[in-house]
Amino acid sequence: MTFERKSRSDYEASLLDKGRRYMPSGPRNPTRSPEQAIIVRRAHGARIEDCSGNEYIDYLLGSGPMLLGHAHPAVVAAVRDALADGSAYLLAGEACIELAERMVEAVPCADKVYFQSTGTEATFFALRLARAFRKRDKILKFEGAYHGMHDYALVSTQWTVALADYPTPVANSAGIPASVLNEVLVAPFNDIETTARIVEQNADELAAVIVEPMQRTIPPRAGFLTDLRDLTRRLEIPLIFDEVVTGFRLAYGGAQEYYGVVPDLCALGKSVSGGHPIGVLCGRADIMDCAGPAKLMRGEGVLLSGTYSGNPISAVAALAAMRELRRPGVYEELFARGRALMRGLVDVAGECGISAVVSGEPPAFELWFTDGELADFRDVLRADAGRQGRFAQLLMDRGVIKAHEKFFISTAHTDDDIDATIAAARDAMRQLATEGTSALAPPSRG
Ligand code: PMP
Repeated sequence: MTFERKSRSDYEASLLDKGRRYMPSGPRNPTRSPEQAIIVRRAHGARIEDCSGNEYIDYLLGSGPMLLGHAHPAVVAAVRDALADGSAYLLAGEACIELAERMVEAVPCADKVYFQSTGTEATFFALRLARAFRKRDKILKFEGAYHGMHDYALVSTQWTVALADYPTPVANSAGIPASVLNEVLVAPFNDIETTARIVEQNADELAAVIVEPMQRTIPPRAGFLTDLRDLTRRLEIPLIFDEVVTGFRLAYGGAQEYYGVVPDLCALGKSVSGGHPIGVLCGRADIMDCAGPAKLMRGEGVLLSGTYSGNPISAVAALAAMRELRRPGVYEELFARGRALMRGLVDVAGECGISAVVSGEPPAFELWFTDGELADFRDVLRADAGRQGRFAQLLMDRGVIKAHEKFFISTAHTDDDIDATIAAARDAMRQLATEGTSALAPPSRG
């Protein structure tokens, strides 16, 4: 594939202008270059097209949900059929009940499930449930992990620039109350000694530990999740896996199946529903039952509700997507494609004499410009973020869009797509080699 970028049409330029005028943060840009801002016209399979007629190979995939590729025919057909029967009941519909059953079958920790519309809601309600169950308020999260946009989550995430000593949290947005920061403790991912010390010192006040089992694209070190599981079980502190990215992506049963460690509660979203708004909170019956009628009637229950919770369109989309994911060989192919691209990226960096390592698992990974091991967020900060941003821009000029600090792979990517991407990466890397190490000032990590 040779990609000749068409220059921006007047139409797309006018949409970008309006977006900047009417939306406070403007239209989202796939890179930091204003010249590369686009407005999407449509997306099919592994391709996304802008309003000037440029078609890119897409590794952004809507920030992960399009595990089956865009507009998968089975999902589109299921949604099209369902739309004629109404799109919001508040009451549970047939598809919602079937989806609950399928979730309990699929996710190892799930005795019961509750649906929402976003991953943010799923982690927010998971923390509320854990606080009600444990009758404590504090939560522990890991530095650099992202759990959505609510106040407890937007703390010491991947957007952290000024680091604090553990376990002090850093707010990543204005508007987060200081009182919320008092309820959050922060530990280093993959460091069980430091984590255990913080958890043990604060056990009497802790309601939950929340972790991305693969933190962004950093896999857990051997034994880390098992040790975390043992620690939290011994102290009777609920362990929450945030599987909004890893759920149905690393395996049908998510990271808990893939890494073989089962949490008490789990938040899912994204890949569950073929690109339709969903969040799923599931877990142990005794914790989930804190939201049950018995407790609610005594005035001790947890309220979990939302107008679109259990939405029938998202539910049929999820059932269709899950049916596709149960087909034999789906994950093997996904992993084979991802592995080929991981290897290809490291190889082209090596050919160009650029130090780079790839971290993650084949369905979601990133290339980092560093020669050190990536075990936690502070290792990520040591990588050359300027080069990383520049590489994304050079790839986009060559017809490839990726996510911020991630390549997401879909079942729609073909061997030809992977080959074309490696060719684009080779060309981009050669260009990068001529530009030196400080092509761009390190970005704020947004
Ligand atoms: N948790 C993780 C691990 C995520 O990656 C995200 C989204 N990037 C969320 C939670 C929040 O999900 P949503 O954007 O659907 O609210």
